[in-house]
Amino acid sequence: MVDLNLTNLSGSGVGDELLDVLVIGSGPAGFAAALYAARAEMKPVVLTGMELGGQAALTYTIENYPGFPEGVGGSELGELFQKQAVHFGARVEFDTATGVDLSARPFKVKTENGEYRAKSIIVSTGASPNHLNISGEAELTGRGVSYCATCDGWFFKDKKVVVVGGGDSALEEALFLTRYASSVTVIHRRDELRAGAILQKRAFKNEKVDFIWDTIVTEVTGAEKVEKVKLENLKTGEESELATDGVFIFIGHTPNTQIFKDQLEMEDGYIKVDALMQTSVPGVYAAGEAADPHFRQVITSAGMGAAAAIQAARFLEEAEA
Ligand code: NAP
Repeated sequence: MVDLNLTNLSGSGVGDELLDVLVIGSGPAGFAAALYAARAEMKPVVLTGMELGGQAALTYTIENYPGFPEGVGGSELGELFQKQAVHFGARVEFDTATGVDLSARPFKVKTENGEYRAKSIIVSTGASPNHLNISGEAELTGRGVSYCATCDGWFFKDKKVVVVGGGDSALEEALFLTRYASSVTVIHRRDELRAGAILQKRAFKNEKVDFIWDTIVTEVTGAEKVEKVKLENLKTGEESELATDGVFIFIGHTPNTQIFKDQLEMEDGYIKVDALMQTSVPGVYAAGEAADPHFRQVITSAGMGAAAAIQAARFLEEAEA
C-alpha cells in the first residue's frame, strides 16, 4: 500500500476547469478507465483516494492477471497501470473525493483539496476490508490486529499468527504469512472453505498452516499488543483461548460508495450499473469493486474500467454532437 498523507499534498482541483471525465479511484478499474479515456483524448483526471493502486496494490503476488506467466507484484502492477495511463495523458491528483453533486451537469465533486467539475464521471472507489467488530479489535489494530499481510507480515517473523476467514483472501494471505510466521492458524466459522481449489490445496499442504473449524473469534485481548484471542465453537458452544502474536482478518469487503448514497441507485452498497457500466445518472459510470459484488478480480475490474471509459467517450460525443 502507498499510504498518502494528504495534508502534505495539494491537489490542483479548481472550480473553473471543466473536465471531460473525472475518474474517482486509482485501482485497476480507475487506471484502466484513465488509460482508455486518455487515449480517447478526454484528458482524464484521476483522484487517487487514500490508497494509491487500491486493494490490488496490497497483494503480494497476482498470479491470475494475464500477461504475467510468473505472476506480478501487486504494487508493481499498480505502478505499471499508473505509468501507462499517465504516458497517454492522464493526470493523477493525490486527492480524495469527499462529496458529490450529480443532480445536474456538469457534475461537481468536492475533494480534500478543492472541487472539480466534470462532464462525465467514472466511479472506481473500490472496497475496504470488513471488520469483525469485536472487543479489542479496534484497540489493538496496528498492535497485532491487521487487515493486510503484505503490509504487516514482516513484523511477525518467527511469531504465531491467526488468520480469520475462509475465502480466497484468507488463504492467500495465510500462505503469504508463512514466509515470516512460525505458525499460521486459520480460524473459519464453517467446516468448509469458500476459497478456490488451488489455494485450498496449497494451504492444506503447507506444514505451517493449520485450521480451526466451526469457530469464531469473539474477543482479541492484550495489554500493549495482541496476546490472545477468545474463541467460540459454533457447533458445540465451547469457549476457549488461543495465545497468538497477530490477528489477520480477511472476512470480505464493503464497497466505498458512501458519498454516492442518495445520488446513485445501489444494491447492498454496490452501485448499480447496466452492461455498459452506466449508473442511474446518465454520464456517470461505475467500475470495479464499487459496482461489482460478483467477480472482484483485477482483470474484471480493469475490464469494467475500460468499458466505462469507452461509454463515457460515446456519451460526450453524443452530448456534444
Ligand atoms: P469472501 O470470498 O467474501 O470470503 C469471506 C470469508 O470470510 C468467508 O469465508 C466468510 O465465511 C468469512 N466471514 C465473513 N464474515 C465473517 C464474520 N463476521 N466472522 C467470521 N468469518 C466471516 O471474501 P474474500 O476472501 O476477501 O474474497 C473477495 C473476492 O475476491 C472473492 O470473489 C474472491 O474470489 C476474490 N479474491 C480472489 C483472489 C484470487 O483469485 N487469487 C484472491 C483474493 C480474493 P463463509 O465462507 O462462512 O461465508
